[in-house]
Amino acid sequence: MPASRNILVLYTGGTIGMQQSSEGLMPASGFAGRLREQQNQQPPLTLPDWQFRELLPPIDSANMNQTNWLAMVEAIRAGVEQHHCDGILVLHGTDTLAYSAAALSFLLLGFEVPVILTGAMLPAGVSGSDAWDNLFGAMQALHAGVEPGVHLYFSGKLMPGVRASKLGTATLDAFGISPRLRRSERAPKIPSALDYRQPRRPVNLAVLPLYPGMQASQLRALLASGVQGLLLECYGSGTGPADDAELLAVLKEAHARGVVLAAISQCPQGHVEFDIYAAGSKLAASGLISGGGMTREAALGKLFALLGAGLSQAEVEHWFALDLCGERAA
Ligand code: ASP
Repeated sequence: MPASRNILVLYTGGTIGMQQSSEGLMPASGFAGRLREQQNQQPPLTLPDWQFRELLPPIDSANMNQTNWLAMVEAIRAGVEQHHCDGILVLHGTDTLAYSAAALSFLLLGFEVPVILTGAMLPAGVSGSDAWDNLFGAMQALHAGVEPGVHLYFSGKLMPGVRASKLGTATLDAFGISPRLRRSERAPKIPSALDYRQPRRPVNLAVLPLYPGMQASQLRALLASGVQGLLLECYGSGTGPADDAELLAVLKEAHARGVVLAAISQCPQGHVEFDIYAAGSKLAASGLISGGGMTREAALGKLFALLGAGLSQAEVEHWFALDLCGERAA
C-alpha cells in the first residue's frame, strides 16, 4: 500500500473545529493555525507533510448536501492534480460523516489516491476531546500506507467509508461497520460513465422508511414532488404492505414514468431478499430494485452518483444491483 508523504487536509467544518457561541457550538474558520500549533507543541509523531484547504463557509455537517459533496470532489481532485498530494484527509462533522464517506466512495470511483474522513465528538482544545487523536491518527495511517479508496477513521479504527455508520452519540467511539453483509456480484469493471472525472448534476432523491399505517396518498404526494430516485426502507428481508393495491399502483406508476425505486432493509443487521415472502415479491413486482445489505448512507450516495451522472433508469438499476466498491460484498 502506497505511503502518503504530502497530504491535503480539507476542512469542511464540524465539531472538531467548532467554538462556543451564545447559541451553542458553531463552525469556525482558522483551523490550520490551531493544527500547526498543536503539532509543534506535542511530542513529535511520524506524520506526512500537509497542506491545508478550507471549504468556505465551514458548516455543521447537519447542513451537508449534494453540492457540498461535489465541492469536496473538486477540492480533492485539485489537491492531487494541481498540488501533487498523495493522500487526502477530510475533516468533517460527525452527524453526516458516514453519508459523505459513502457518497465520496461512489463519486471517486477510479481515483488512485487514498482518502480518509475523520471528525470529533468534542471540539479540539476541550478537555477529553478526541479531536487531535482522530486527526493525527488518520494522518499516521496515511503515512503508514492506506489503500486507494475512501475510508473513515475514528477512535483508532480505520473503516471502509462505504460501510460505516454513526451508531452513537454518547461515547467517543461513535462509528461502526454495518454487519448487514450480503455477497453479491462484483461489477467486472467500473464503467467510464461512473469514473470520478464524470460530471454530476443535482438529483431529487428521497428516503422513506415503511411503517404500519402508511397510506398510498402519502407516498403519492412524495413521489409527485419530482423525486427521481426513492429509497424505501422495507421491513425485514424486503417486505411491505403488499395487500394495499393502491400503494402498489402508486409505485408502479412512478416506476413507469422513470423513477428509480430502490429498497434496503430497515433492520440494522438485515438485507433484502424479496422472494422469501409473498409480501416481498409483490412489492418488488411494482418495480423495486434490491439494495442487498447496503446501508442507507451507501444506497443514497450510490443513487446520487448513478442518477447524477445522467444514466437512464435501466442503467441505474443495472449498476445499483452490482457491487462497485465493497458496498454489497465482503
Ligand atoms: N453537528 C456536528 C456536525 O455534524 C456534530 C459533530 O461534528 O460531531 O458538524
